[in-house]
Amino acid sequence: MKSKVYFIAVKNSETLNCINTKIERLLEESRLFDFIYKDSQVVVKIHFGEEGNTGFIDPRHARVICEAVTAKGGAPFLSDANTLYRGRRLNSADHLNLAHEHGFIKEAAGAEIIIPDDNKKENVIEVPVNHKFIKNALLARVYIDADCLVAVSHFKGHILTGFGGAIKNVGMGCATRQGKLAQHCDVSPVVHVENCIGCGECAKVCPTGAINIVNGKSVIDKPKCIGCASCMAACPTMAMFIDFASGDKTQEKMAEYALAVLKGKLNKSGFLNFALKINKECDCWGMENPRIAPDVGLFASLDPVAIDKASFDLVNRACGKDIFKATHPDQDGIKQLRYAQEIGLGSLDYELVEL
Ligand code: SF4
Ligand code: SF4
Repeated sequence: MKSKVYFIAVKNSETLNCINTKIERLLEESRLFDFIYKDSQVVVKIHFGEEGNTGFIDPRHARVICEAVTAKGGAPFLSDANTLYRGRRLNSADHLNLAHEHGFIKEAAGAEIIIPDDNKKENVIEVPVNHKFIKNALLARVYIDADCLVAVSHFKGHILTGFGGAIKNVGMGCATRQGKLAQHCDVSPVVHVENCIGCGECAKVCPTGAINIVNGKSVIDKPKCIGCASCMAACPTMAMFIDFASGDKTQEKMAEYALAVLKGKLNKSGFLNFALKINKECDCWGMENPRIAPDVGLFASLDPVAIDKASFDLVNRACGKDIFKATHPDQDGIKQLRYAQEIGLGSLDYELVEL
């Protein structure tokens, strides 16, 4: 059966207030939050943006969403888990401060911000998955303990998964640092020695000390590498590249992690995709990165696979080509969706309801 995906178009020039009015209309007409019940704890899973990044969803849009949750009787809170790699979101205190700096304070965003500290055992939960790659998913407990989940995802390109949307926000985004590592650990970059100038920038940012400069060239100690991609971001000559052949596995592991998060929330989860400010790379990059597509619009669905497929299709329609493949030729992001469908997360077949 086709899953319904509601869509409302947004143009590049539209104001924040205009977009907020559209979010309200989308939520009202899709009745997306009908699953929320009185006094339910509702986690609004969002990305607060790495320092220097500007692609993340505006906190004033989050406010409209949190107010709609409250209107249904739910108690919302905004949340994201910490990152694998060095940066301002590596631990909960720094992450929360950065979220505040990006405008995510209760008064502006309409809800408390909770960043689970996964160094504390009580904040971690192991959820059995027993699929091809993941036996037990390591998740921040807060996402499992909440009664309902609303994933608010920025739809954009991604160096490893082709694009990132709802599946990535939930699968990778709700994992503990150890869980993120489990999804990345088959993925080590490779050094293209002909481009390496031996500057050592990669070694400086490597969180595990996996890189040494030997005879003027970068060398990776693979067993130490956690596949965080920080070295690629730091390399000025693009000498550091991912082993793209392993990216498929990360996509499938990510889908299995998303299943772990959502399997206990049947009929208690909703998804909103923002195909605005569509960047080449994800909001984890600590820098501005180029826009690859015009603003397309806002999507709402109860199906995480269908919403990502519809977002993918409409962004590509606006670009007149598969812009994600054109941007990241070695990745095929559709693989995460095909596998997600295969393991029962949702359907690639959707009915688009244009508002
Ligand atoms: S070698 Fe690169 S990808 Fe591996 S851990 Fe170090 S910085 Fe991360
Ligand atoms: S940052 Fe790039 S160019 Fe510099 S040493 Fe590392 S791989 Fe080589």
